Amino acid sequence: MPFNAYIFDLDGTVYLGDALLPTARETILELRSRRARTVFLSNNPAHTRFDYAQKLTRLGLPTSPQDIINSSMVMADFLKRNHALARHYIIGERPLINELREASLILADEGDADSVIVSFDRTFTYHKLQRAFDLIRGGAHFFATNADVYCPTPHGGEPDAGSLIAAIETCTGKKCEAVVGKPSRYMIEAILNILNLPPDQCLITGDRLETDVQMGINAGMATALTLTGATNRQAAEKSSVKPNFILEKLSDLL
Ligand SMILES: [Mg+2]
Repeated sequence: MPFNAYIFDLDGTVYLGDALLPTARETILELRSRRARTVFLSNNPAHTRFDYAQKLTRLGLPTSPQDIINSSMVMADFLKRNHALARHYIIGERPLINELREASLILADEGDADSVIVSFDRTFTYHKLQRAFDLIRGGAHFFATNADVYCPTPHGGEPDAGSLIAAIETCTGKKCEAVVGKPSRYMIEAILNILNLPPDQCLITGDRLETDVQMGINAGMATALTLTGATNRQAAEKSSVKPNFILEKLSDLL
């Protein structure tokens, strides 16, 4: 195989909702049979690595949690390294909160906090916006798991963390200081740590130019854009972000 490791985005690349995309299963099984490593990335912090591994396994792609990297895991690692003793206010869902608790980080539902962590949150309320506004104007750090504006679903999409970041940036006048998901260097470090390979032996495939492909370019990896998700061919041709390959379906990789 031309590459030793194949890194796949999940939503819009390997599956959409609860169904694998056409040719995803046979392509990934074929790569594995040719002894290539396959790992999976998600910017979506609403599920744990275990959930993703279970879902892929149930859909016919047996996968271990060690081969999954998502933005909540990268956030836990980022906070442990840089803000281990701080108190964090989380705008996010249960799986993210659990991941941060398991990393022994201190979470502050009420009262003072040193940082506000913004994420995909379908339980977002005016109260949470007010709390983020008060804390950040009082000097708290402002970090986010991911900056996707929406997550594609079989019915269209769901507003994602990017839209909540925009709301908080607008009312506070402060820019989010770090987004740890794709295409950040924190995510790249997590991937290279797991693979233990030089970047030029890796190919990353995803459905978004500004996250998946941009991160691969930043990391010095080969990149493939698949047209099965958020990006169509016209958008790909207009963009200044240029992947090495454009795929109609995942089996074009073979
Ligand atoms: Mg995607």
